[in-house]
Amino acid sequence: MVALLAGCAASPQRSPLATWSPSPNHDARQATVIVLHHTQMDSFDGALATLKSANDHGRVSAHYLIAEDGRIVQLVDERARAWHAGVGRWRGTGDLNDASIGIELDNDGSEAFAEAQIDALIRLLDDLCTRLAIPRTAVIAHADLAPTRKVDPSAQFPWARLVNAGFGEWPRAEAPAAPEGFDPVLALALLGYDTSNLPAALAAFRRRFRGMDTAPTPVGSDEGAMPVAFDDEDRRLLFDLQQQRLGR
Ligand SMILES: [Zn+2]
Repeated sequence: MVALLAGCAASPQRSPLATWSPSPNHDARQATVIVLHHTQMDSFDGALATLKSANDHGRVSAHYLIAEDGRIVQLVDERARAWHAGVGRWRGTGDLNDASIGIELDNDGSEAFAEAQIDALIRLLDDLCTRLAIPRTAVIAHADLAPTRKVDPSAQFPWARLVNAGFGEWPRAEAPAAPEGFDPVLALALLGYDTSNLPAALAAFRRRFRGMDTAPTPVGSDEGAMPVAFDDEDRRLLFDLQQQRLGR
């Protein structure tokens, strides 16, 4: 059995029922998004061991782990699915492990992210987006795809630094107020958020784009279609991000 499994791992996947007559016209299945995490652990070595075994919820991994000093370790081949995303949804895609590269940052979830670590992340993002043709805007938080379960990376994560280096999306500083009639729920969905739990989606949005860790306050949903209260700044930022998505 062990020998059989080892044999499978080492050879291409082909059916014994068919004759192998290879065509050169194919390529590897591609990731289309990069998902960022914090490890929520106290040490790099502990995180590395967990990403090769399991945490409380089962077996986990990521393609990359970046230490606070900027060391980058790769754990999983980019063509393979690492197990980092879990249940979630982003831009209509339900299996994010299939569609993404996962990068874990050694960080306990409450501390600031180290300069050298973010420098290394930016270099890695440049390498990945170049080699794998992943759009530079397609860099998201784990919490973006799983807003009811996850808060990583924390509100301390310096998204603006990534944006300055050309990665991710960001509202323009001079963006005007959202116009009358603007629908912030549709804009959240256009960005990629699963809006079926709107308070969770808005909390993830605020953590990412406003550095806020406080959950929005759900208000009674009897009155209509808006079970959470978007404030003027949410609406302004969402309107501008929507405009950028629409190329305006
Ligand atoms: Zn995560």
